[in-house]
Amino acid sequence: MTGAIGREEARRRVREAGGDALLERLEHLDATRAGRLSGKQGAQGGAARPPDGKARPDFDVVIAGGGLSLLLAPLLADRGLRVAVLDRARVGGAHREWNAGVAEVQALSSCGLFSAEEVERFVVARYREGFCRWHRGGTYPVRGVLDHAIDARALLEGARARAEAGGVTLLDGHTLSGHAEGREAVALAVEEGGARRTLVTRLLVDARGSTSPHATADLICPTVGGVMVGIEEGEGPLQIQPDVGEILVSTEGLVGGFQHLWEAFPGRPGETTVYLFYYAPSEDVGPGALVSLYARFFAQFGQYKAGEARLLRPTFGYIPGWSRLTPAPRAGGRRVRLVGDAAARHSPLTFCGFGSTVRGLSRTAEGLGRAVEDPEVREVACDAPVHAGAGALAALMARPPRRMGTEGMNALLDTAFAVLHAGGNEFYASLLRDEMSAADFVGFLRKTAALRPSVYREALGALGAGGIGRWGTGLLREYVRAG
Ligand SMILES: Cc1cc2nc3c(=O)[nH]c(=O)nc-3n(C[C@H](O)[C@H](O)[C@H](O)COP(=O)(O)OP(=O)(O)OC[C@H]3O[C@@H](n4cnc5c(N)ncnc54)[C@H](O)[C@@H]3O)c2cc1C
Repeated sequence: MTGAIGREEARRRVREAGGDALLERLEHLDATRAGRLSGKQGAQGGAARPPDGKARPDFDVVIAGGGLSLLLAPLLADRGLRVAVLDRARVGGAHREWNAGVAEVQALSSCGLFSAEEVERFVVARYREGFCRWHRGGTYPVRGVLDHAIDARALLEGARARAEAGGVTLLDGHTLSGHAEGREAVALAVEEGGARRTLVTRLLVDARGSTSPHATADLICPTVGGVMVGIEEGEGPLQIQPDVGEILVSTEGLVGGFQHLWEAFPGRPGETTVYLFYYAPSEDVGPGALVSLYARFFAQFGQYKAGEARLLRPTFGYIPGWSRLTPAPRAGGRRVRLVGDAAARHSPLTFCGFGSTVRGLSRTAEGLGRAVEDPEVREVACDAPVHAGAGALAALMARPPRRMGTEGMNALLDTAFAVLHAGGNEFYASLLRDEMSAADFVGFLRKTAALRPSVYREALGALGAGGIGRWGTGLLREYVRAG
């Protein structure tokens, strides 16, 4: 898997491994970036008229987008609500692979969705440790972070079966094309195979991920890769160890202004999920970015891993990230709520939307249940205090100032991770698990800056004085809140 690869060849390889339907998903996702850049996607409601006060709602809650957020449906039905989930493709037809920590694995059963035995069947691998490694820098091992590989298909099929058993209406192949709010309900314009219909619901949950018109987070992480076979096993840097997760690895400097990162998670015997991704300002990522990234993935793979590697199941997507330096993504109106990637309340540093969604399932379902009755209940997606600090680091990674040079980002990351590692496993792991306290976070920044004083100028170059001010204010607020 080396040598120059064009976009056509990248498309061909994705189709060969994933079939036509998957390539269609890829191209649909890539095409949505065009609407986002032109601002056209913001238009909502043209196709629907607000329901009048007498219309009896078809549902209490409609979840638009049956990806990961499908997990909320059975929990809402358990609360006695009439729930529907609609998806432009198949509800629960994920094309993802997820890794997560023990807290997330346990949350799948503690929220009442599955039994502990059922959850055990979703775990396809466990690791003794993971690591981050930087080009021309060190390797920094950590334990207790992202150390479970989850079978996404089995999990979502399980959620689908659980939803059906709980009386949830599942609408495969239904696209939400617009909505209009009335006082007591929302009318949804829904398209299915060329036909249009209107559904009325008391609450619309927008779970359309990065393609939602409400997904206005300022950062984005284009991600491509998938399940691979044939990677050489062993302890060398070009090999994979079945019991070790590779969390963040760089193999080169900035290319095209972006720092590309690899990630590799062994799954079933002989299989490894591998991703290539980069952080970018949302407005800098245009149509076709995923196909271009796949071309890079195929061309550069040999720099990362050795062996006769072959892509078995492609997985890809745009993961939004909110730096907390700009206004939060929100739906206007009283009867629409954002969850998952559309809300982007997960970590802007690790982009672990699966972990954050699963940890917050109970609270989000509870909040949505209350919002059906009381439109004043606004926040339903769960955030974590450390994101107030970590967001600015993600913004710096997304906009490396020119003065950093090609290798400057690697050097900064190497310094930062050396500090995390020196702080002990819990200190290091707490940042990656979204649990680091504001005080520890400030300590981490100070130690990193002491070793690399140029970071002050670099942060100023990437964030500007206004951004630095908002960052400091946000951090201070969390510091005070934590006492
Ligand atoms: C390649 C990749 C790997 C990832 N790996 C990890 C990981 O290892 N760990 C982790 O914690 N997180 C991971 N994530 C992040 C995680 O997958 C997301 O945060 C999560 O899936 C978001 O869930 P969601 O329900 O908001 O959106 P999604 O799961 O993206 O689902 C959105 C759904 O909306 C549907 N849809 C879109 N538009 C419409 C419409 N108009 N009408 C109807 N339906 C529509 C789509 O078909 C899709 O099914 C990964 C993301 C990607 C892209």
